[in-house]
Amino acid sequence: MTGYRDMWQALGLDLGAHSALLEALGKGYQDIYLSQRNRPQGMSYFDFVMKEVHGLRIRELLDEKKAGHKIIGSFCVFVPEEIVRAVDSTLVGLCTGAEFATEEVEELLPRNTCPLIKSAFGFKLGKACPYIEASDMIVGENTCDGKKKSYEVLRDLVRKMYIMDIPQVKSDGGRALLKAEYLRFKETMEQFTGISIDADRLRKGIEIVNNKRKALHRLSGLRRANPVPISGLDALLINQVYFYDDPKRFTDSVNGICDELETRIERGEGVFPRSTPRVLLTGCPMAIPNWKIPHIIETAGAVIVGEESCVGERGVRNLTDGSGETVEELMEAIVERYFKVDCAIFTPNPDRLEHILEMYEAYRADGVIHYCLQFCQPYLMESMPVERALEDRGIPTLRIETDYSLEDIGQLKTRIEAFLELIL
Ligand code: SF4
Ligand code: SF4
Repeated sequence: MTGYRDMWQALGLDLGAHSALLEALGKGYQDIYLSQRNRPQGMSYFDFVMKEVHGLRIRELLDEKKAGHKIIGSFCVFVPEEIVRAVDSTLVGLCTGAEFATEEVEELLPRNTCPLIKSAFGFKLGKACPYIEASDMIVGENTCDGKKKSYEVLRDLVRKMYIMDIPQVKSDGGRALLKAEYLRFKETMEQFTGISIDADRLRKGIEIVNNKRKALHRLSGLRRANPVPISGLDALLINQVYFYDDPKRFTDSVNGICDELETRIERGEGVFPRSTPRVLLTGCPMAIPNWKIPHIIETAGAVIVGEESCVGERGVRNLTDGSGETVEELMEAIVERYFKVDCAIFTPNPDRLEHILEMYEAYRADGVIHYCLQFCQPYLMESMPVERALEDRGIPTLRIETDYSLEDIGQLKTRIEAFLELIL
C-alpha cells in the first residue's frame, strides 16, 4: 500500500506508527482469515476490502469530499444513517477494535476504561486512523457512562464533534427524547451540508440502508442451515465491513455471496462438518480487528452461527418503514425503528433476552457464549441475569470477560474448549 503514502501524510497520519499497524493487521488477517478452509469464493471481495481498508476506500472518501460531500464518523448504531444518506453524505464506523497508543490514552482516560473507548482514543492520539482524520464531523452519543464522559475529552481532539443524547428508558418520554434528538440531528445535517431534506431524499436514504440490512438478513437466514455454509469469522467480517464500505457495492457483494451459499446448501456443502457444535455469540460489539474470541471458538472445533451484537443482528434486525409520504412520517418511522434497538444501556432491557432466545432457536444453536469487554458495566451487569435465565431454560452458557490484549488467549482457550465439550 506504499502508493498511498502521500494521502496518509496529507491526512496527518504518523507514517511509522501507521505502517506498524498495517503490518500487524495484515499478519493477523493472514493468520486468522486466510488460513481458514472451505471459504466461499465471494469472500475474495471482502479480502480485497480489508487489503484496501486504509487505501482505496479512503481515496474514495476523499474523492467524495472533493465533490462536496461530507464524511460523518460514528461509534454507535444509534446514529441514523438514513439521515446522513439523505444529505448525500457518508457515515463511517471508527476503528475501535485494537489496542493502540495505550500509554498516551491512559494520560487522558482512567486505566479501567472499556477497551473499545480506549481504542478509539488510541487511534486518534496515535494518528493511525485515516477514517477519523477524513471525517468532517464525528457524532458521539450519550449511551454508556464511559462513552459520554470520554466524548468530553475527545471533543478537544477532533475537528468537529456533535453530541447526540440517547434515552435510557423505553418510555413515552424516552421516545420523545429520541425523536427530538433525531430532528435536531436532521437540522444539523441540513445546515452542515446546505441540503434541505425532503421526503424523496429521506425515502432514498431509507432504501439504501434497508437494502444493506436486507442483504445481511439474507446472509443470517443461510447460516441457519446445517452444515453451515460460511464460518462465523467470515460472517463477522461482513458485518464489520458494513460500517465502512460503499453501501450499494456492499449490498451487491453480500447478495452475491448469498447466491453462492444457497448453492452450497443445495449441495449439502458446509465450512465445517454437520456435527460441529453451533454457538450463538451475544454481548458487546466486535469492531475490526477484534477477531480474538471467534478465532478461538472456531479453531476449538465449533462454529458461530449468529451474533446478538451491534456488529451483528442487534444492529440490523429492524428495517425502517419507507412507505411514509411526508418528512414527518418518515422521521417517525426512523424513530420507531431505532427505539427498538435493545442495547444494554436501557433499563430494564427485557427485549434483549427475548432476542437471544429467539436466535438460539432459529439458528439451532447448541450453546451461548456471552462476550463482554472488561469494564463495560452495561453488558457485564446484564450478563448475570441473562446467564441465569438461559441456564434456567437448560441452555448451556459461558460468560467471558476480556479485552483486546493477547495475554489471556491460553486461559480463554481452555475455558472455551471445556465449554464445547459440555455441549458436544
Ligand atoms: S452496544 Fe449500545 S452503545 Fe454500543 S454500539 Fe450498540 S447501541 Fe451503541
Ligand atoms: S462496550 Fe460497553 S463500555 Fe464499551 S463503549 Fe460499548 S457499552 Fe460502553
